[in-house]
Amino acid sequence: MTIYNPTKIPEAVYDSHTHLNDDKLYFDVPAYIGRASEMKVLEMNVVGYDEKSNQRALQIAHDFASEGVRAILGFQPEDSVYFDDDAQKKLADQLADPAVIGVGETGLDWHWPEPGKDVQIASFKRHLELAKQFGLPATIHMRDSFDDIYAILKEMQINNFEMHSFAGTPQQAAKLIDLGGYISFSGLATFKNAHDVHQTVKETPLSRMLVETDAPYLAPVPKRGQANEPAFTKYVVDDLAAMIGIDRSRLADITTENAHSLWPEK
Ligand SMILES: [Zn+2]
Repeated sequence: MTIYNPTKIPEAVYDSHTHLNDDKLYFDVPAYIGRASEMKVLEMNVVGYDEKSNQRALQIAHDFASEGVRAILGFQPEDSVYFDDDAQKKLADQLADPAVIGVGETGLDWHWPEPGKDVQIASFKRHLELAKQFGLPATIHMRDSFDDIYAILKEMQINNFEMHSFAGTPQQAAKLIDLGGYISFSGLATFKNAHDVHQTVKETPLSRMLVETDAPYLAPVPKRGQANEPAFTKYVVDDLAAMIGIDRSRLADITTENAHSLWPEK
């Protein structure tokens, strides 16, 4: 297998949030990593969301550490009901692993009525406690829940986090950046009707910007509607660079540097 030093390659892209641990991609992980490297997507974070996907993310990060793959582990809001004491203990053990560079995805999702708000909030806070305890950044999923997430981050003095697949307003992004957060843009930012997100892209300081696929979901234009994969981070960078009006290689370099600042080697 090819040995890369991604930090030394200009124009390398870092997919800050992908799910090679999802059934839709898990059957052929080496091929997806190979296709990504052909598109110069040379680093990626595989993000867990429940017990099984955390286990898979950890295993992928171990198998492909020299290909720039790392793991972020947690229970997504939808699965927060399973984040009991035993699950928390197991997660804490996994977080100590050198291949695990962050906690998540966690957060609050008010789009669906279940799990209830109290369950999601309790799980979110426990994830943030772990993030503090291990000195790791949190990867946060936010949907219709800005006010509550902002209040909790502020109250718990969390200043090291990625707001993943950002879909909010420029004002919300600015407040999260003030707390110390990074804003990560996915294929969603390339959708023609996502006007708020386009505005946020234009107003977000480059030094606080990350890119991701959230594969297998949210394939960017021009692949919208197809199965998404880490290689397509390239299209997110292309589209964002055009929107901002800067060179795509510069945006690739800056977002990769930002990812290295948020997730330094352990
Ligand atoms: Zn995700």
